Amino acid sequence: MTNKSIYGLTFEQLSAWLLEYGHKKGRAEKVWEWLYRNRVKNFTEMVDVNKDCIQLLQDNFVIETLTEHIKQEASDGTIKFLFKLEDGHLIETVLMRHPYGLSVCVTTQVGCNIGCSFCASGLLTKKRDLISAEIVEQIMKIQFHLDQIGQGEKVSHIVVMGIGEPFDNYENMVNFLQVVIDQKGLAIGSRKITVSTSGIVGKIYEFTDRKLHVNLAISLHAPNDELRTKIMKINRVYPIEKLMESIKYFLKTNRRIMLEYILLKGVNDQQQHALELADLLKDIPQGAAVNLIPYNPVDEHDQYQRSEQKDVIGFYETLRKKGIICSIRQEHGTDIDAACGQLRSKQMKEEKSNI
Ligand code: SAH
Ligand code: SF4
Repeated sequence: MTNKSIYGLTFEQLSAWLLEYGHKKGRAEKVWEWLYRNRVKNFTEMVDVNKDCIQLLQDNFVIETLTEHIKQEASDGTIKFLFKLEDGHLIETVLMRHPYGLSVCVTTQVGCNIGCSFCASGLLTKKRDLISAEIVEQIMKIQFHLDQIGQGEKVSHIVVMGIGEPFDNYENMVNFLQVVIDQKGLAIGSRKITVSTSGIVGKIYEFTDRKLHVNLAISLHAPNDELRTKIMKINRVYPIEKLMESIKYFLKTNRRIMLEYILLKGVNDQQQHALELADLLKDIPQGAAVNLIPYNPVDEHDQYQRSEQKDVIGFYETLRKKGIICSIRQEHGTDIDAACGQLRSKQMKEEKSNI
């Protein structure tokens, strides 16, 4: 049996495991600090940890399991990493520079089964869920990269918006959040984390009740069921009315919700759609904001085009006039393969054609 990655354990799990072997909580705290504060890549670097404990960790765990396959850097500082998992699958992780900090977009699954009609990730059906350790390690890899640059920069924000549907890999995703939020380690503030979902309603309730206090983003993309079902077939299972009820429930806990809306030329970007959207959101409490997303063209989805600038502005202004808080997403890394899942799907095509 191969050893498992230590990044998969929450602090409580690590403490409980070490205690079984007679190592008290103080030792778990030290190990945790070495992992996430000093960010060692080898257990033997934990110089003030008892030798037996180091041996025990070495016998049972590994630290690194991902390898860097490709790294693309855009002129605005965005870096897209393609990592190879132990079983050879490729995943994407993106580092973005914002005025307010450094944010990392993580992948949660190898491919995605939700199959939205505009998305590059959905083209490649799900091969498997990532385990929690593999999601944590994406953050660590980026942090190692920053540590290497040596300017003391730290990942400050996380968006769970890479390949995959996080609520279709719920336990691993929650476990990941618990590790990165932990105050003794990476200590990324829960308010600086956003999880994006295509709208798996049951899980929105469960997640709300879990009280992790992170922000939620919902991929809405259409103001009515007919159109949303055309764009996202998951709407058949979780129609807009049910989704709205779950959003209201989440907002009761006072966290923020971002409603994501990709603008697709002539499909969902006209005045009538903006008015319908404003109407849909009129009884949603404060705390919900709309984020208009410029469509990133995907070769295989040539039925869609990017909206014209005048329509983007028109849509935005109509929402604002109706009192809806809204913004237009700032694009990152437009000179690299920026759309969700695009670098991975391109790379896989290239590697296939080279065989
Ligand atoms: N599965 C989750 C999270 C990953 S997708 C979800 O769907 O929310 C993250 C975001 O990227 C979603 O809002 C998704 O709609 C958007 N996205 C996917 N493909 C895109 C494309 N080609 N152009 C612009 N945004 C895209
Ligand atoms: Fe999956 Fe999200 Fe892409 Fe839809 S948009 S196919 S849910 S990754």
